[in-house]
Amino acid sequence: MSALAKNYNRRNIAFKRGKGSFLYSTNGKKYLDFVQGIAVNSLGHSNPYLIKEMNKQAKKLWHVSNAFVIPEGERLARRLTKKTFANSIIFQNSGVEATEAAIKAARRYFYSIGKPYKNRILCINNSFHGRTLAAIFASGSKKMTEGFGPKVPGFDHFNFGDHEKLEKAITKKTAAIMCETIMGESGIKVIPEWCLKGLRKLCNKKKILLILDEVQCGIGRSGRFLAFEYAKIKPDIVPIAKGIGGGFPLGAVLLSKKVASAMSPGSHGSTFGGNPLAMSVGNAVLDQIFKKGFLKNVEKNSKYFFFKLNEIKQDYPNVIKEIRGKGLLIGLQLYNDQSIFIKKLEDERLLTMRAGENVIRILPPLNVKRNEINLAIKIIRKVCDQQN
Ligand SMILES: *Cc1c(COP(=O)(O)O)cnc(C)c1O
Repeated sequence: MSALAKNYNRRNIAFKRGKGSFLYSTNGKKYLDFVQGIAVNSLGHSNPYLIKEMNKQAKKLWHVSNAFVIPEGERLARRLTKKTFANSIIFQNSGVEATEAAIKAARRYFYSIGKPYKNRILCINNSFHGRTLAAIFASGSKKMTEGFGPKVPGFDHFNFGDHEKLEKAITKKTAAIMCETIMGESGIKVIPEWCLKGLRKLCNKKKILLILDEVQCGIGRSGRFLAFEYAKIKPDIVPIAKGIGGGFPLGAVLLSKKVASAMSPGSHGSTFGGNPLAMSVGNAVLDQIFKKGFLKNVEKNSKYFFFKLNEIKQDYPNVIKEIRGKGLLIGLQLYNDQSIFIKKLEDERLLTMRAGENVIRILPPLNVKRNEINLAIKIIRKVCDQQN
């Protein structure tokens, strides 16, 4: 009997070690891991460079309070601002803390310019921003909020793609539109580039802020460092997490200059957020992802993977409905419930993950090798054949 609460629907496998794209179970089986902790292990398991950098820091200093200067964090923040639209960074420990900080920053900005009544956040129905009280009510999901009332006020919603409703839902009280650049949990739904451009224009017109949640699709996952870069726009606030720690809990919120100016001393804080150990790992992840050609290679592998998946779709048109996603954030939408398919992939030693709308989420490490993609393709084809 497990002493753990039953809030997860766990699969009956445990692992004793991982190496790159592979996991080794306690009962001696080798799995191709295309879950990677849900886009967290951006550089695969037991990455030698991350191990080295983390050990180096672990021998020097783990944690000091944010009451003091933390040079490793100064460096990570500087590198993130140099690479993005952001002027400053607040470090957190997880994705949901980053999305919460994003919401707080948006409200605080309007407070700071004398418009505290502008405090409502407009979100997409059935999106995902994490599991705190504010974040679940931001998601507009019945399932996630069930039993957790009273409702946290301050969030309005529109449906994915409903442009008319979106424009009408913006009121005098709206502070920001918040959405995932690529919706992860709800089924790998990409917001098209022209829509992102439109969102930016709309926010400018209505003088509200644009928050793009890149917790899952950021840090190279899409083939760009941040996924909205494809649309050549600049958001105001961007929460990141998952991939930036490479497996170490690390989150951050990126702030534009005007928003950052509202976050005065004492306005927000975190005990653990931005400690030297986490910052060193974050810097080590960036060392790899910022390497020349790294993201180009993600795009190249993505192209190949999508090409091969589309070949399978053509061969099994009554099994696979759609191939979705960008970069190495890939969704395989089936016509039927995907759970049996996922189990069959697992039996063939390929680990994948569910998402909404009958989608199977495929999340290889960003440094996945071509022959590992080929192995996955072979297994997916085999399971399609069994379904046919
Ligand atoms: C995973 C995720 C979160 C929450 O991150 P946690 O680290 O689980 O709190 C928030 N937003 C998006 C888009 C995510 O995918």
